[in-house]
Amino acid sequence: MSYQSVNPADGKVLKTFEELTDKELEGKIAAAAGCFDTWKRKTYRERAKIVAKAAALMHERVEELAHVMTLEMGKRIHEARGEVEFSATILAYYAKNAERFLADVELHPGLGEGHMEMSPLGVIFCVEPWNFPYYQLARVAGPHLMAGNVLLVKHAGIVPQCGIAFERLWVEAGAPVGLYTNLLISHDQSDRVVDDSRIKGVALTGSVAAGQSIAARAGQNLKPSSMELGGSDAFIVLDDADLEHAIKWAVWGRMYNTGQTCCAAKRFIVVDSLADTFLEKFKTALAALNPGDPLDEKTTLGPLSSESALIDLLKQVETAVSHGARVLIGGKRFERPGSFMQPTILTDVKPENPAFRDEFFGPVAMFFRVKDEDAAIALANDSDFGLGGSVFTKDLARGKRVASRIETGMVFINNISWSDAELPFGGINHSGYGRELGDMGIQQFVNKKLVRHV
Ligand code: NDP
Repeated sequence: MSYQSVNPADGKVLKTFEELTDKELEGKIAAAAGCFDTWKRKTYRERAKIVAKAAALMHERVEELAHVMTLEMGKRIHEARGEVEFSATILAYYAKNAERFLADVELHPGLGEGHMEMSPLGVIFCVEPWNFPYYQLARVAGPHLMAGNVLLVKHAGIVPQCGIAFERLWVEAGAPVGLYTNLLISHDQSDRVVDDSRIKGVALTGSVAAGQSIAARAGQNLKPSSMELGGSDAFIVLDDADLEHAIKWAVWGRMYNTGQTCCAAKRFIVVDSLADTFLEKFKTALAALNPGDPLDEKTTLGPLSSESALIDLLKQVETAVSHGARVLIGGKRFERPGSFMQPTILTDVKPENPAFRDEFFGPVAMFFRVKDEDAAIALANDSDFGLGGSVFTKDLARGKRVASRIETGMVFINNISWSDAELPFGGINHSGYGRELGDMGIQQFVNKKLVRHV
């Protein structure tokens, strides 16, 4: 079964779903294409009415939506509530600001006058992951629907109920048929959707492998795409950092969402003078986390999203160790029902170890000791990824200088990599291309058309 809800906290199957037949899929693509013909002509105010209504419904249903997410992919309940609220905020943000972001831009050529106007492209196909099952959807729905596009969305196989619940919000918000469509489809069907001439753009958030496959397909079809892939963000602690502050964020940055976040802090790079104290405190804080039912408010460590995610992570740790890494704490699954991984710290990961370039999508931190700021930056940049990163220092000017030298899409000073509705999110290299959120996010799938007259 490709679409199946399994509670990763106890392994129980909750529900299974049939994939769409090719005929059903064709009907949904046709409905989306038909919807675009009218949706593109709506005013921003008309679009905003529906998008803002969906946001309001999310706010009203925080508890119900969070519960579904926690059961399907194991996110701790208070984090799940936060995600639903944030998703609603993103929708409301675009309902309010889209018109301003897509306003005509006056141009001043040598001769005559001109302006740039922005119009929607059409049906956009989005492939989304399970780690933030509503946020990832809101991040595409808010901007692209407000821009006048319509969406076909293939959500991850392990969170079908979240995908269906999100789609239902649009129906209840009064969206016309075809505006937002959840597709329970196979990878082969997904390829055919990308090929379909009615699809005008493709957005994906997920693994590098998925990105390579879908981006190549979009490229063959000469369709614009945005790729938000993995990361192995550096968390740099300089000699003048506030250590307690850095530790607090190190724990949160690595362990939020049980470590399954693309922009999580994954490589902890600490200068020599603070390294021992940092490591001792970090170790103590991680070891204090307790696995438990993610629906229980007192639980401090949730399960991974699935048993296969746990098995893959355990294998990665094994490979790292077989190539010389040392397990400071953890490294194993918890001997209890459910897919729970012990908080883990790996040290002595040398550049020739495959782990050095790997992304650990779970509660596994790699720790590196460096002699100074230059060495920290060099190590941070020695990565195939380039999503986010953090630098901790009490000297803001120094933090900014270091941030300028880090080769990623985002750098955060005295904080972890994070996203806000107002700020562009995305990376470079194997972390992908394009930006989501902020004003850049809404410009991803629009035609910026020059109109000139002399
Ligand atoms: P995937 O990249 O496989 O899944 C993400 C989405 O892409 C899902 O909807 C998945 O569908 C879909 N997908 C994957 N391959 C294809 C394909 N060839 N054609 C069409 N759709 C495709 O992530 P995993 O769940 O396997 O997680 C593995 C790794 O991916 C993680 O360890 C992490 O490194 C990275 N990841 C990064 C995320 C991020 O936020 N950037 C989010 C999730 C994962 P389906 O579920 O049906 O396979």
